[in-house]
Amino acid sequence: MAEVSGADFMPSVDGWVPAARHVPSPNFDARPADLPTDLVVIHNISLPPGQFGTGDIEAFFQNRLDVTRDPFFEQIRDVQVSAHFLIARDGELVQFVACTQRAWHAGQSAFCGRQRCNDFSIGIEIEGTDEVPFTAAQYETAAALVRALQLAYPITALAGHSDIAPGRKTDPGPHFDWNRLAKLADLPAGMLPYQP
Ligand SMILES: [Zn+2]
Repeated sequence: MAEVSGADFMPSVDGWVPAARHVPSPNFDARPADLPTDLVVIHNISLPPGQFGTGDIEAFFQNRLDVTRDPFFEQIRDVQVSAHFLIARDGELVQFVACTQRAWHAGQSAFCGRQRCNDFSIGIEIEGTDEVPFTAAQYETAAALVRALQLAYPITALAGHSDIAPGRKTDPGPHFDWNRLAKLADLPAGMLPYQP
């Protein structure tokens, strides 16, 4: 991965990050008016489950998944979802939806009593599973991205998918090291989700 400076992670006025490879997803719509984008939601994803670098996540978010590639894909063939960002195992940043638009990553969710987190959040998928550690390159990219998002938007908190959809979602899972991200991105402890 080429060396990129912090400035490259700053979203443009239209919400696209220059440092990211842009893979536009049709799965988005407009955010509600007058609602600040103040939350970052961290997820993990792998497709097929447990496999990395297949290209299937991009295909899934673009509604062009080849369901013959894996039996699991039958279960998600008609699901239309997206996230703003994906951070691959090697740290590469991929962007699917402009930060100014509403991506479809959180589903039924609530943060501090506020429902429908998609309305006011930016979704970051880290390629991985609940079972294995994430890579150093992924933390570096996540930190650079979160720092830039904080400058561009009135971000007040970070949360895991499991924090906003407890009982329904488990990602980013026990291996996601919030303190490591916080240290790299200079985040105050008050911005982190509840720690076990
Ligand atoms: Zn998730």
